[in-house]
Amino acid sequence: MNPVEYRRPATADEALTLTGSAGARLLGGGTNLVDLMRKGVERPSLLADVSGLSSLIEPTEGGGLMIGAAARNSAVAAHPLVRAHYPMLARAILAGASAQIRNMATVGGNLMQRTRCLYFADTAGSRCNKRSPGSGCDALEGFNRYHAILGASGDCIAVHPSDMGVALAALDAQIRILSTGGIRVVPLTEFHRLPGDRPDLETALEPGELIVSIELPPSSVAARSAYRKVRDRASYAFALVSVAAGLAVRDGRVEDVRIAFGGVAPRPWRAFRAEAVLLGRPPTTEAFEEAAEAELQDATPLSGNSFKPNLVRRTMTAVLSELAGDDR
Ligand SMILES: Cc1cc2nc3c(=O)[nH]c(=O)nc-3n(C[C@H](O)[C@H](O)[C@H](O)COP(=O)(O)OP(=O)(O)OC[C@H]3O[C@@H](n4cnc5c(N)ncnc54)[C@H](O)[C@@H]3O)c2cc1C
Ligand code: SF4
Repeated sequence: MNPVEYRRPATADEALTLTGSAGARLLGGGTNLVDLMRKGVERPSLLADVSGLSSLIEPTEGGGLMIGAAARNSAVAAHPLVRAHYPMLARAILAGASAQIRNMATVGGNLMQRTRCLYFADTAGSRCNKRSPGSGCDALEGFNRYHAILGASGDCIAVHPSDMGVALAALDAQIRILSTGGIRVVPLTEFHRLPGDRPDLETALEPGELIVSIELPPSSVAARSAYRKVRDRASYAFALVSVAAGLAVRDGRVEDVRIAFGGVAPRPWRAFRAEAVLLGRPPTTEAFEEAAEAELQDATPLSGNSFKPNLVRRTMTAVLSELAGDDR
């Protein structure tokens, strides 16, 4: 049994002070961290519970939306402004976990949740460079059906599990981080690091910092947007592949488009190449397939997930075709 001190800071500054101390971890809803503590993957000596800090969801002066890091996933999905202006975000959140978990889970915790790679959570003998740097990676030759085909390395092929993060990547979300120097802002697409030879370093968050809020800019594609998740079970399962997309068509051509993938990379994967292929083109099935090909040109499927590139292509094409609707 490891003794753990529990504190509930009243302000973000107080949380900042607490999280700067050795062995400290921030606690949101606890739906991931507490699991990992039970498994012995995480062994904090201090938990700073930030779930009582800002959970406000409010419009910004620039016409976007600010979401407090302590906002519960279910509150974000149900919020009228999210449902009206960012439907893909509501749909992505509702595609994840269960109602009970979404009621507990916070926005900050969702983005910071750890990978679901089986070997990462198995402290009984599995080799895992992310959990124990330099020990090896049992997923490379093991069960890797859920693992990455984009952005991985020879040291780690784990995917980031968040559904919400995929929609946020497509929506150009900005993460507001509190550090001792004040607030700094990191685009969500750059927040999660690719593993390289340091898979234990997962995000742009430095030790002693915390996420205080997420800002969504106004978006010309968000109102006509969707999220589709393909998984082994209809509910309560992580994505094999997911696609978040928003599309604006004018005069028969793609005026603006945002696409991101989940379940295929160590970060919510923004499909910048695919978007570039589509801009200015008629929104045809052929164009969507060509765009998917462009995005997947560096894909490296593994022994257990050679189906993923085709699944990405088909899912992306289906989502964009649905969004294009009568404009085709
Ligand atoms: C059975 C099950 C099924 C699930 N299925 C899905 C799914 O399909 N899709 C999906 O997306 N998710 C799924 N999840 C994951 C779930 O969404 C996450 O566990 C949850 O979002 C984490 O949020 P939390 O607030 O509980 O985080 P916590 O467990 O409290 O914390 C997670 C991490 O975030 C850090 N943290 C928390 N708040 C902050 C902050 N403000 N700043 C910096 N760091 C912070 C913590 O220190 C910790 O490292 C599932 C979880 C379970 C248990
Ligand atoms: S894929 Fe990453 S998380 Fe999974 S065992 Fe390998 S190093 Fe660990």
